[in-house]
Amino acid sequence: MQPPICFLCDKDFRHSEGEGGLIYFALTEKDKEWHNKQREKGFVGHPPEAAWFCGDHYPEAKKLGSLTRPEAMKKLREIFSL
Ligand SMILES: [Zn+2]
Repeated sequence: MQPPICFLCDKDFRHSEGEGGLIYFALTEKDKEWHNKQREKGFVGHPPEAAWFCGDHYPEAKKLGSLTRPEAMKKLREIFSL
């Protein structure tokens, strides 16, 4: 699993207790392949559909949890003008 660094603004909040969180987005076809491979081979890694968000960006990101990660990131960049 990756350390808690915001996927949107790169803020490192691993020392800020209670801030932000990990969001699991909908799976893209590529993500599904990753999970199938993971099941077969048993490796551990950061799931491609999951991303950390800092306290500033977590609430909006959470609303977009039904989208895939690329779709959600596009929307979040629009919302926050990044
Ligand atoms: Zn952020």
